Amino acid sequence: MTESPLTVRPERRTELAAGLARVRSRIADACAAAGRSPDSVTLVAVTKTYPAVDVLALAELGVRDVGENRDQEAAPKAAAVAAAGAAPRWHFIGQLQRNKARSVVRYADVVQSVDSVRLAAALGTAATAARDRPLDVLVQVSIDGDAARGGALPGLADPDRGLDPVAAAVAGADGLRLAGLMAVAPLGWEPDRAFARLAEVAARLRGDHPGATVLSAGMSGDLESAVAHGATHVRVGSALLGMRPTLG
Ligand SMILES: *Cc1c(COP(=O)(O)O)cnc(C)c1O
Repeated sequence: MTESPLTVRPERRTELAAGLARVRSRIADACAAAGRSPDSVTLVAVTKTYPAVDVLALAELGVRDVGENRDQEAAPKAAAVAAAGAAPRWHFIGQLQRNKARSVVRYADVVQSVDSVRLAAALGTAATAARDRPLDVLVQVSIDGDAARGGALPGLADPDRGLDPVAAAVAGADGLRLAGLMAVAPLGWEPDRAFARLAEVAARLRGDHPGATVLSAGMSGDLESAVAHGATHVRVGSALLGMRPTLG
C-alpha cells in the first residue's frame, strides 16, 4: 500500500481535536441558550492559510464542511485533499473575481459570496458547463450597506448590486441553486445588532424564495450571537485551527 503524501502528525491531530471539541461545545451551548437543536447548526471550518493536511485531519475528526477564501489557495488544496481520499464539502467564502468562476465551480460545493448580478451570471455559465449538479449559492449581504465593501445591498434598487436583483439572478440561473444568505458583522457593530438586522433581511428573502433557508453568519468571535439570531452555518477559523499569521 502506498502512503498518502499527506501525513497527519499526531500532535497536530490532538491540537485540532481539542479546538474542535471547544468549538462544538460553544455551538451546543449557544443552541441550548436559543432553544435550538445542536444539529441545526453546521460548522464550516475555515482552513484558509492552513495546509491540506489540516483539512484531512479535520475530515478524519468528523468535520464535513470546510471554507476557503482564495481560489489560488483553495484549488490545489482541494485537489490534494481529494487525492488523499477525503471528500469534505468545500465552501468558497471570499471575494470572487468573475475570471475565477470556471476554476471555483470545479471543486466548490457552495459559493457563499455572490454579491452581484454579473458574478451570478458568470458562475451560472461556468457551473452549467462544468458540473452535472447545480452549485449551491448564498448571496452575501452587506449589513451596513457600505457599497465599498463586499455584499449585496438590501433595499437598494441598484440593478447589479441590489439584494433582490442578485437573488433573482441566482434563482433564475441554470446551474445555480439559491440556498440562502451569508454575511459578516461589520467592524465596530455590536454582533447582536448586526445579526438581528440580518435575520430580518433573511426572513424577507424567504418570502420571495422559500427554498433559501441557509443563513451563514458568525465566526470565531461572534458565533453565539449568530446562533441566537438563526444562523444555520457558522464559519470558524482561528478558534479551531489557531491564530493565522496576519496577511491583511
Ligand atoms: C476568515 C473568515 C472567517 C473565519 O474567521 P475567524 O475569525 O478566524 O473564525 C469567516 N468568514 C469569512 C468570510 C472569512 O474570510
